Amino acid sequence: MTDSIFSKIIRNEISSHKIYEDDFVIAILDIGPLSEGHTLVIPKEPAATMDELSDGHAAALGRVLPRIARAIKKVTGAESYNILQNNGADAGQAVEHVHFHIIPRFVDRGEIVEGKPDKENGPGLRTTWKPGTLTQEEAVELGKHIKRLL
Ligand code: AMP
Repeated sequence: MTDSIFSKIIRNEISSHKIYEDDFVIAILDIGPLSEGHTLVIPKEPAATMDELSDGHAAALGRVLPRIARAIKKVTGAESYNILQNNGADAGQAVEHVHFHIIPRFVDRGEIVEGKPDKENGPGLRTTWKPGTLTQEEAVELGKHIKRLL
């Protein structure tokens, strides 16, 4: 079990800008926002990564994420947003307590290039996505092993 900064926030030992709380989940404004409205949705269970989280807390997270996203959209005027969830240091996780980022994306607040907002700019999450390939054989083999564990 970890005792992260988020556990301390959950126990109100550290102050935060809490925007939602129920028996299983809190949501707080991110202290280093990528964009206006950047919010963290955090289960109260102190699991470090998603694979360690109980079904009950996972369900509670899933239940509130859409509602919180709707409120953020409405308040910020964002039409698009990313939900990001990092697991492990190599995946960019800094705080070892499960959390979902809701990050509004504002391309219209970025640079205007040739009269149009540049999609590569503006506040929000920007990722580099380099798709690979998956052969039929690889998919069957990999899928078989994963399915066996589910
Ligand atoms: P991650 O890299 O997915 O672990 O993201 C951790 C996030 O937690 C970062 O976006 C931080 O800005 C945010 N964060 C860290 N400490 C606090 C805090 N005390 N209150 C609010 N957000 C925090």
